[in-house]
Amino acid sequence: MQLNVSLTKYMAGKRLSGQGRFPLVLMLEPLHLCNLSCTGCGRIREYADTLQEMMTPEECLSAVKECGAPVVSICGGEPLIYPHIGRIVREILALRKHIHLCTNAVRLAEMLPQFKPSPYFSFDVSIDGLEQTQEKTRGRKGIYKLQMDAIREAKARNFRVITNTTLYKETDVREVEELFDRLTMLGVDGMLVTPGFSYEAVKEDIFLDREASREKFRYIASLAPKYRFFNTPLYMRFLAGERQLKCTPWGTVTVNPRGWKAPCYLITDAHYKSFGELMGGTDWERFIERADPRCRDCMVHSGVEATAVQEAGKSLKDMVELIRWNLS
Ligand code: SF4
Repeated sequence: MQLNVSLTKYMAGKRLSGQGRFPLVLMLEPLHLCNLSCTGCGRIREYADTLQEMMTPEECLSAVKECGAPVVSICGGEPLIYPHIGRIVREILALRKHIHLCTNAVRLAEMLPQFKPSPYFSFDVSIDGLEQTQEKTRGRKGIYKLQMDAIREAKARNFRVITNTTLYKETDVREVEELFDRLTMLGVDGMLVTPGFSYEAVKEDIFLDREASREKFRYIASLAPKYRFFNTPLYMRFLAGERQLKCTPWGTVTVNPRGWKAPCYLITDAHYKSFGELMGGTDWERFIERADPRCRDCMVHSGVEATAVQEAGKSLKDMVELIRWNLS
């Protein structure tokens, strides 16, 4: 609810000032180094040559202020191995931004004392399946138990915990349903579900095409009454093939040690030195309608959730649904 109040105020202010394109979320990647090597991860492959580079805490804070988005998703790489993570979280919270700290949870339990619970702060744990699936895709024995224990510990200390589940070709939706049951029993605050994006840097044939995505998400969407999904209802219907939504690539902007990544979180044509150069130098029109071939099967939330939020404001029915979802 707090997040939605912040987003509504921010969007109203931008509209009143006549700004048509503005980000809702900053993906802040202080480093690309990770303590796992997951099968579907584009980052550790795309940035293999610069894995040792890191943003300084000053660069991180300056990026947050320059872009102005009300939500900062700290990702990577693995943010819990970034040496200044405690400091940047404290200083970004002091700016009254909402933080989602995206983690594989390998270090979560030991790092909890560095953070304080806040309605502005969530851990987002990436978890795609049960024991066997997690061990296969994450390449680490015991990872599932470690993650579930870390989530339990974070909840016991009153932290907000969201989970992020990515669906691939081999994903069994019944297994995902069982995962959701277990996560619900642990008391997680929300679950985000999204199809994997076919990164060029990932050579394995593991990603879903559009039709296969829709088939799996029709089943996932049917589970909505049972679970606290973090996806907006409109995005869920888009995933199930019931609604068409364009992309809003500037809705989620990304900054990392190389600069401001264009045009979006997923594909890289350039890195700009400043947020202003990113906004002014990108041919956004090419990506709104998915004219670029790399966008063909893309249905991920970083491109579409901003569209869903804006579309909801245009229809009373969608708005009522969004408000109900917020209150549920
Ligand atoms: S459709 Fe996907 S890949 Fe294309 S610009 Fe949007 S978010 Fe990026």
